[in-house]
Amino acid sequence: MRLANFKGRLVIGDRGGTFVDLALASEGRFEPDPQLIYERWDEFLAWSSGATLGVGEPVAAEALGPPVPRPRQVFAVALNYSAHATEGGSDPPSVPQVFTKFPSCLAGPHTRVTLPGEFVDWEAELVVVIGHRAHHVTSSQAWEYVAGLMVGQDLSARDVQRSGPTPQFSLGKSFPGFGPTGPWLLTLAEYGEGDAEIECLLNGVRVQHASTGEMIFPVAQLIAHISSIAPMLPGDLVFTGTPSGVGAHRTPPVFLRDGDVLVSRITRIGEISQTFHER
Ligand code: ZN
Repeated sequence: MRLANFKGRLVIGDRGGTFVDLALASEGRFEPDPQLIYERWDEFLAWSSGATLGVGEPVAAEALGPPVPRPRQVFAVALNYSAHATEGGSDPPSVPQVFTKFPSCLAGPHTRVTLPGEFVDWEAELVVVIGHRAHHVTSSQAWEYVAGLMVGQDLSARDVQRSGPTPQFSLGKSFPGFGPTGPWLLTLAEYGEGDAEIECLLNGVRVQHASTGEMIFPVAQLIAHISSIAPMLPGDLVFTGTPSGVGAHRTPPVFLRDGDVLVSRITRIGEISQTFHER
C-alpha cells in the first residue's frame, strides 16, 4: 500500500496508481493529518487489510506533499556506503555516523529548491519511516518497527557543512527544501524483501547508482544502534546514507546550478524530482 500527502490530507493507494482519502474512506475513524497515522499504525494496518476502499482517483504527483510532514526526529547517516566513504578520502566507519536534518527542511516529492549558495550537492537515499516506538531494539527485531520506505534527497550545502573546525552536517543539510521525500510511503508488506536499486540522475545523466545491499550498516543495524541511545518514535525518519557519485568528490567538482533537474529513484518505491533556481 502507498500512503501519500495530497493537499495536506492522507490518501492511500495501491499499485493501480489511484488513491482514496483515508479519513473519508474510514468514515472518520482515522484523521486526515498524514502525520498522525503512525501513532495508530497497527490499528491502521488491521483496518486497511479488511477494508473495501472503493474506486480511487489518480492524483497529480506534482501536487503531493511530504508523506510524513512533521516527524519529531529525523536521523541521517553519513558514510554508509564504502565507495562513498572512499571517494571522500575516509575509511569506512566502524560505527554508524549519525546526524539530523532539522524537520523544517522536509518537502514533497516534486519541488523547486532555492539554491542558498554555490556548493549545493545531491545525495539520493533510502528513507525509513518508523511505525512503533523503538528503544533498545535488536537488529533481528528492527524491521518490525518500520512502517515503510520512501525515496529521499539529502541535499547538502558543502560550504556550510565544512565551515569551522567541526563538521556542520545538520545545519548544512537543513536549508528549506533540502529534505524532499516521497513520492509516497510504500508499506513494508508491499515493498517485500531484498535489496533495491538506488539511482540519481542530474539533467538526465546518471550520477549515482548502487544497491541498498551495499550499505555498510544495513537498516536493521542502524535502528539497533540509534535505538540503543535515543528512543525512535512513530513517524520518525531515517535517511540511510548515500552511495558514491556525489558532486563534491568529482574531478572537477560539480554543484547544482540554476535550472538543473535532479531525479532520485529507488526500484519498487518510485521517484522524486527537484529543479533548482538561484535566489
Ligand atoms: Zn546523506
